[in-house]
Amino acid sequence: MNGNKIIGRFAPSPSGRLHLGNMLSSLLAWLDVRSLGGRMLFRLEDLDPDRSFREYAKLMAEDLLWLGLDWDDGWRPDGGTEFAQGQRTALYEQAFQTLQDLGVLYPCYCSRAQRLAASAPHPGDHRESGCGCRMMTDANRRLMERNHRLPATKVHVSNAEISFIDGHYGPQIFSFCAGRDDFIIRRADGVFAYQLAVSVDDAMMGVTRVVRARDLLDSTPKQIWLMTQLGYAPCIYCHGPLLVADAGRKMSKRDGDLNMEALRARNTSEELCGKLAYLAGLLPEPVPIKAADLVPLFSWDKVRKSDIPLPDNLF
Ligand code: GLU
Repeated sequence: MNGNKIIGRFAPSPSGRLHLGNMLSSLLAWLDVRSLGGRMLFRLEDLDPDRSFREYAKLMAEDLLWLGLDWDDGWRPDGGTEFAQGQRTALYEQAFQTLQDLGVLYPCYCSRAQRLAASAPHPGDHRESGCGCRMMTDANRRLMERNHRLPATKVHVSNAEISFIDGHYGPQIFSFCAGRDDFIIRRADGVFAYQLAVSVDDAMMGVTRVVRARDLLDSTPKQIWLMTQLGYAPCIYCHGPLLVADAGRKMSKRDGDLNMEALRARNTSEELCGKLAYLAGLLPEPVPIKAADLVPLFSWDKVRKSDIPLPDNLF
């Protein structure tokens, strides 16, 4: 898989039907890699057993292919299970052990709300403010254990500046503050968190270009930090603009009228592709076009940087 130097990925979580915002990010990820002559892979991010459904996974694969977005390696409804995160826990366990040996992990006994944040990578869903668990005395720890409080596991980041050049938004600098920016890598129920799994997978699958929506921009320094600790070279990251529904709200899988079931009922694949390319800034008009015909037209310079409000009646 590493023969070709440029490798991108689709990394959907099968928690619902793909929506318009997911399709825009997928289109940009595919155009980025195809315009560079690279390979695309499909990784199924089905880590959270309570929020992953096989039926949605199948529909996601089908929806991407319907729009003309294909991949060279990866998960398929009839195989490629080595690309499903649910089957890769042994690898996350090894990385966890490496971090344990580096002495950067500690148990965190904070509330359920904070633990759940580990499965919600999108900022705005939750922002942790740091906790005192790292400094907890052995006596208090024993007390927690006697009360059957299972700890999540956090990484302790020291004061550090993480900088990278985003392929679309340019230079980014994030200051990590010891304590405040520690983050969960394993939930109290044992499920590995998104940040750990995505870092291990992007590294081990040889991914060189991560293209995703801007709402994940502040997960990127965490992933760069983890990859560096684990001895891997970070990827190149390109974040894309967000499609926003009414009042600047980011779209979610709960927006039923803009999910792929509804969109496919009202649009041909070429119509939907043209409308997405128009919203992204790649076409001056929302005219029908095949995804493959956008490849020669693609350049990040044309892609909008600001959030994209959804026009009335376009879809
Ligand atoms: N699985 C994540 C999601 O569906 C995307 C992760 C990523 O692109 O890094 O939101």
